[in-house]
Amino acid sequence: MKKNLFHSSQIAKVALVVAALLVTAQAHAATHIFASQLITSEDSKMQSDKTVIVENNKIINIVDGKDEGGDGDTFIDLTGSTLMPGLMDMHVHLSSQNEGPSSYLKRFTSNEADYAIAAVDYAHKTLMAGFTTVRNLGDADNETVALRKSINQGVSVGPRIYTAAKSIATTGGHADPTNGRSHDLMGDPGPRDGVINGVAEARKAVRQRYKDGADLIKITATGGVLSVAKSGQNPQFMTDELEAIVQTAKDYGMTVAVHAHGKEGMRRAILAGVDSIEHGTYMDKEIIKLMRKHDVYYVPTILAGNFVAEKAKIDGYFPDIVRPKAAAIGPLIQQTFARAHENGVLIAFGTDSGVSPHGDNAQEFALMVQAGMSEMDAILSATINAAKLLKIDKELGTITQGKLADLVAVKGNPLDDISLMEKIHFVMKDGTVFKN
Ligand SMILES: [Zn+2]
Repeated sequence: MKKNLFHSSQIAKVALVVAALLVTAQAHAATHIFASQLITSEDSKMQSDKTVIVENNKIINIVDGKDEGGDGDTFIDLTGSTLMPGLMDMHVHLSSQNEGPSSYLKRFTSNEADYAIAAVDYAHKTLMAGFTTVRNLGDADNETVALRKSINQGVSVGPRIYTAAKSIATTGGHADPTNGRSHDLMGDPGPRDGVINGVAEARKAVRQRYKDGADLIKITATGGVLSVAKSGQNPQFMTDELEAIVQTAKDYGMTVAVHAHGKEGMRRAILAGVDSIEHGTYMDKEIIKLMRKHDVYYVPTILAGNFVAEKAKIDGYFPDIVRPKAAAIGPLIQQTFARAHENGVLIAFGTDSGVSPHGDNAQEFALMVQAGMSEMDAILSATINAAKLLKIDKELGTITQGKLADLVAVKGNPLDDISLMEKIHFVMKDGTVFKN
């Protein structure tokens, strides 16, 4: 007796036809996005009246004029708007946000879950502001690794995250999480907590980050503003420790981002082979020359500098030990940026958001332009330059046929008024529209 209605080869044929039909149906459902102005970031030109065609998660074509597509296609009409690649912020802290005096107390009352849940909201705000990719440079307990996973799985909404997980410091350094605590709460954190002393611990801390799921390494090579410690600029790593970090990171395909305000810490880090200098406040001619020679990116974070300088004027906003650092270092960053830009240092956009509120990231553009950068260069710093720093410029950073469809738009022309970047009204990430 014949049990099967169909012979198995017939079933296979039917399945193949159905599969082919599904693929064809999917392939034909393109999204056509027309914009009056287009910045591709492939060059410094502004183009007009273009349609970008997206299929699944990729840009498949860019054509002249308005092409609404055919049956089954989606048409998005951005007449009057400027379409650009998704923006990238190379320095954020998605799991925290400065809230003034209570921020310091919160370190004693918050748990990992509190940071993780706050991060979901901050990530959403960041994407809605047009930032489709971020580098997260320091969290408390790997919560941004979990956040990245949740966003990639489509469980929560946020940018593509490249995270350093917990920053690496030396004992008492800027990212030692126990600074300022009473002795019985201070303990003696080690490589696992991101605190190292010596070459062996430096290697271990990098390997631990790899094990934890970090994409890159962040170190605090000098003192910093908001840590409860005296100096905002002293060097905090020895050369052998820096070299151990860079060499170990390379073994795992990880880049190294360096928080630094003081000159000596920057000098040692650049010579050790790091990839980017964050803040860079006391960068002088010698450092600028070194950065150019070694192709090190500068991530300015002017927004954070201005933000803490403003807050330092308020009595009681910062602890007494932090206030003078915020007042001294904060206002200098915009001038440092101007010098670095004038002298041809590679610049990638970064804000240190989390110091200032998440979602305000685009305020950095106006500060860059105020300091002498052209509007177009500021946009390039947040697209193709950032993609190069992340080494993802083959897939992202420009509007180019074959690249992933991360696109944002503003009404009007941001080259005439850069503050328009603060009003992103269209966001597509990986071919999906998140804001329109
Ligand atoms: Zn930071």
